[in-house]
Amino acid sequence: MNGALVRVEVAVPVPLGRAFTYEVPEALAAKVAVGSRVYCPFGGRRTLGVVLRVLPVGEDAGIEGARETVKPIFGLVDGPKVPDDLVAFLLVLGRYYFAPIGEVFRLALPPIEKKTAEALRAPSLFPEKVRGVVARTMTWIVATDASGEPRGPLAKALLAQVRARHEAPLPALAAVFSGAREKAKALAAQGFVRLEERERPAEAYFRDVVPRDEAPTLTDEQIVCVQSIDAALAAGKSASFLLWGVTGSGKTEVYLHALATAIAAKKGAIVLVPEIALTPQLVNRFRARFGDDVAVLHSGLTDAERHAMWKRLALGEVSVVIGARSALFAPVKNLGLVVVDEEHDGSFKQADGVRYNARDMALLRAHQQNAVVVLGSATPSIESMHRARDSKASGACTLLRMRGRATKATMPEVTTIDLRRIGAGPTGEKRLSVPLHRALEETLAKKEQAIIFLNRRGFAPHALCESCGQAIGCPHCSVGLTFHKRGNFPGGAGTNGILRCHLCDHHAPMPSACRSCASAALVLDGVGTEKLEEALAKAFPEARVARLDRDTGGGKKVEAVLTKMRNREIDILVGTQMVTKGHDLPEVTLVGVIQADAALALPDFRAAERTFQLLVQVAGRAGRGALPGKVLLQTFQPEHFVIRRAIRHDVDGFLDEELVNRRELGYPPFSHLALIALDDPEEGRLQVEAMRLADVARAFTPAVEVLGPTPAPLARWKGRYRWRFLLRAKDRGKLREALVAVHRASALAHRDTRVALDIDPSHLL
Ligand code: ADP
Ligand code: ZN
Ligand code: ZN
Repeated sequence: MNGALVRVEVAVPVPLGRAFTYEVPEALAAKVAVGSRVYCPFGGRRTLGVVLRVLPVGEDAGIEGARETVKPIFGLVDGPKVPDDLVAFLLVLGRYYFAPIGEVFRLALPPIEKKTAEALRAPSLFPEKVRGVVARTMTWIVATDASGEPRGPLAKALLAQVRARHEAPLPALAAVFSGAREKAKALAAQGFVRLEERERPAEAYFRDVVPRDEAPTLTDEQIVCVQSIDAALAAGKSASFLLWGVTGSGKTEVYLHALATAIAAKKGAIVLVPEIALTPQLVNRFRARFGDDVAVLHSGLTDAERHAMWKRLALGEVSVVIGARSALFAPVKNLGLVVVDEEHDGSFKQADGVRYNARDMALLRAHQQNAVVVLGSATPSIESMHRARDSKASGACTLLRMRGRATKATMPEVTTIDLRRIGAGPTGEKRLSVPLHRALEETLAKKEQAIIFLNRRGFAPHALCESCGQAIGCPHCSVGLTFHKRGNFPGGAGTNGILRCHLCDHHAPMPSACRSCASAALVLDGVGTEKLEEALAKAFPEARVARLDRDTGGGKKVEAVLTKMRNREIDILVGTQMVTKGHDLPEVTLVGVIQADAALALPDFRAAERTFQLLVQVAGRAGRGALPGKVLLQTFQPEHFVIRRAIRHDVDGFLDEELVNRRELGYPPFSHLALIALDDPEEGRLQVEAMRLADVARAFTPAVEVLGPTPAPLARWKGRYRWRFLLRAKDRGKLREALVAVHRASALAHRDTRVALDIDPSHLL
């Protein structure tokens, strides 16, 4: 029937679990499609949503839609729509994680909502600095003295924007006005504006000119891997590989080859790397091979840049994107390949909001789009390893192994130092044993470099009262405060230092007396990276000692330290796990681990796996170049299987042993888990709520086991108490049924009680 209104289902960015139905005005009906971004009214506000479904004319808008008055959308955002395949992927992702669909879209799309909406009214929409996407130069549009008005609404609007500012970068305009590029040329021809090619301001990832390089002759092991991946890419069907290669085996070179194959076949590719590993050095290896048309998605991008990049990808102007976990949502055209480097890395799992795991979801997206996935690691996750070994496991993947280093460097020799027997070295610092001290002396004498790893930042991890033994804790969290001497925080520049909470922003000066017993006998205990750096600088006055941890500062400062290290301006680098990830520092010959077993006792079934991965990765920093490397692990538990396996680089043996443990204890990959995490400022109410939800889940026993509820090991955080329970099941379907019930019941919780469903949790703390 003519005049029948088209209705659409729209995901709006609100934490509600469903989409909303809107009417499409006739003028827009022909243009609106799945993936269109639309302005719509929501609760008295105007918001930007994404069309999930165009309802067939005459179809009732569903029970929920029927009950409410259906409002019309205001308008349609110009520019590329969210590709269908991405919409389909995000819908499944949202369902899998029980995440509100609007939140999923907010996570996945560039945050242009506010800016674009404001741009409808505001005279200026240019961000102060547009550092652009990838090309080295950028077109600027500059107003001339010509007066008068051009014809056409777009030309008028464009010129008004340019005149208001006198000049503006064209990419910023193009991000908002579709057709801006063509129109700018027309305006230039009419003499209203001038177009100028200008040098881009320096952007860390594209600052240096990178000479193009040629692929090296592949090693035999690399050839086998490349051939398998190429064959899968040629087949054009979804396939997954676990590329398990020792540190320095040349995995990156394998990725580069796979990318070249994908690019030659006109396919797009996504490369995911751990947050910490996304450095200019890494990006430069890709630029050297493929030129500057590589999109780098990093946290330093402005909203406008993010949006411009999104558009270029959606239009197929750029086909390769590198980034941390959220790059998985890049609207790459004709996706053919997804690489997940260091696939075991914890940063692929988002810890709050939509708690997705980018590695797992990479497998899903690739499967949906017939793409090939390559998961790479020197220390694969237990889950991936299980999939690769057991062809019957769900989502089985093909194992590709590289056992030797590409450069023929030998694996470093690893030795343990038993901290129970071996005491402090000449510095008197408990954690700098005699053998470690001697090894540092030797390294310095040979003018080589050392890395010392300690996973505690700050000066001293504990401040305690000697009279009553009470530790000084955070008033908002159930953890002790760490003493920092220096750093980029309020009061940090002073000489007296400050106590800080590593979970919240709380910081306070060192008190003069104990809060419990008023004794003045307050002491600092334990050693953090700051103290270690100081002790090393004192012990080796001729050495250049530097530190790398979260207190070092942002990306630029971290990069500066790594550059100094590479340029041999640092002899000893002290740091937290920031020193362990992916850096290729060929001159490092000594790696010392201050306490190898520090994280083994954490109440988490992944403690052994994480410790093992960390030790093998940190050991892998030694001897990557021409000189052989040496690793010293100080530990109180040299006989622990994690330590024994790590010193022999025995990943196989570790996996065998850990898989047996997991099977016995019924943990993944032999079961599926979901963590229901609740928090609330009021503990009593929280407890009642946790019990109620756990009871809902108990209705599904015995297929689903309910473990808890109990207070979380980290019982209080930022002023909120925390309780949780764990659901465990062999059958994912059964687990889902229980989760659906818990999810539904959680809607009835008190408004101050937050309930989070963490599917496949990676941390139980
Ligand atoms: P991984 O990612 O496995 O740790 P990389 O890809 O960083 O290893 O390679 C380690 C080193 O070996 C790098 O310096 C790299 O340039 C070099 N390399 C990789 N493949 C080859 C090859 N086929 N021939 C020579 N050198 C190689
Ligand atoms: Zn006291
Ligand atoms: Zn705190």
